[in-house]
Amino acid sequence: MNTQVGLVAVIPVRDGVIPAGGLEALAESAGVAVLVGTDLDTALDTTIGVGRRLILAPTASCAPRTLAEAATVAVLAHAPESAVVVPASPDGRDMAPLLARRLARTLVAGATEIAPHRVRAARQGGLAIAQFDLHEPFVATLQPGVRGVEHRDLPDPEVVRLSIVADTSDAVSAVEVLPPDVSTMDLAEAPRIVGGGAGLDGESRFALLAEVSAALDASMGVTRVITDRGWVSHERQIGTTGVVVDPRLYMSFGISGAVQHTSGLGQPDHIVSVNTDAHCPMMQMSDLAVVADANAVLDALAARLSARTERGVA
Ligand SMILES: Cc1cc2nc3c(=O)[nH]c(=O)nc-3n(C[C@H](O)[C@H](O)[C@H](O)COP(=O)(O)OP(=O)(O)OC[C@H]3O[C@@H](n4cnc5c(N)ncnc54)[C@H](O)[C@@H]3O)c2cc1C
Repeated sequence: MNTQVGLVAVIPVRDGVIPAGGLEALAESAGVAVLVGTDLDTALDTTIGVGRRLILAPTASCAPRTLAEAATVAVLAHAPESAVVVPASPDGRDMAPLLARRLARTLVAGATEIAPHRVRAARQGGLAIAQFDLHEPFVATLQPGVRGVEHRDLPDPEVVRLSIVADTSDAVSAVEVLPPDVSTMDLAEAPRIVGGGAGLDGESRFALLAEVSAALDASMGVTRVITDRGWVSHERQIGTTGVVVDPRLYMSFGISGAVQHTSGLGQPDHIVSVNTDAHCPMMQMSDLAVVADANAVLDALAARLSARTERGVA
């Protein structure tokens, strides 16, 4: 493979799964990436239509130092002049500083846009975009959900397989990887989200919304109106000054769909909304729009789910 000056994505892969933001990092680097981690062949299928040249760097584990060690070897061997794009997924955020240190490069975290000599990143809670002009190759993490991915009709990617003897001397190693708890997991990673807004009439509704979300195996998100009231903490806020998400299913209760909220929503496969205003933007962008009092619907849903639990229905 030719050495390229440009961008190369380094995507941590855990058990064949490309993380949230991984395909966006691949698209940002024009389809050139190092896939590093475990069961990389399974991950290859996911890159179809986005990947052009892929370097597979398998590792024995997904410990951050092991990933960084293998990625360093792959980057130095195959793209030493390229700036590195890492998805800001949990594994990506753990690996990126270690990779930057090994490559002796500047690290820019939380980018919204990356070019070979320039990075733009949201700062001051999303109120400002900072631009960094960089004259040496760097490492930058890309915020998931900001860029989107265009799938194209591309030929099969060129694949280079490395057999790396990874550094397995991590002081801390994973004993077991537990499935995420939907009520506390990073919203950016959540495949199902139930959102609540000002149409819900009090703080206690959000405790109920959290219970209903957990019963539906979904995470709870809210609008800024709710976090400004102090009813729910800021890490649950979806939008330009909150978390940018990209769930497959989004259910909204009493949310109007202001652009600062919807621009952080990604591209859900399905949106279900409950609102008294049939014409608000959130209802207009929904697959199923229920014109009703969101408080009453939430109560009814909670009662149904609790009856199912009592009957022992999974
Ligand atoms: C710089 C800046 C950054 C911002 N960043 C964000 C951000 O990151 N995230 C974010 O969410 N917002 C953000 N906002 C705020 C945003 O502009 C909106 O004000 C906010 O998203 C609206 O929240 P909401 O939908 O809960 O409330 P509202 O817009 O007040 O909407 C309430 C909705 O509830 C419906 N409703 C009322 N009663 C009922 C009922 N009984 N049953 C059902 N429906 C009912 C209404 O019809 C309405 O559609 C930002 C604003 C600014 C200026």
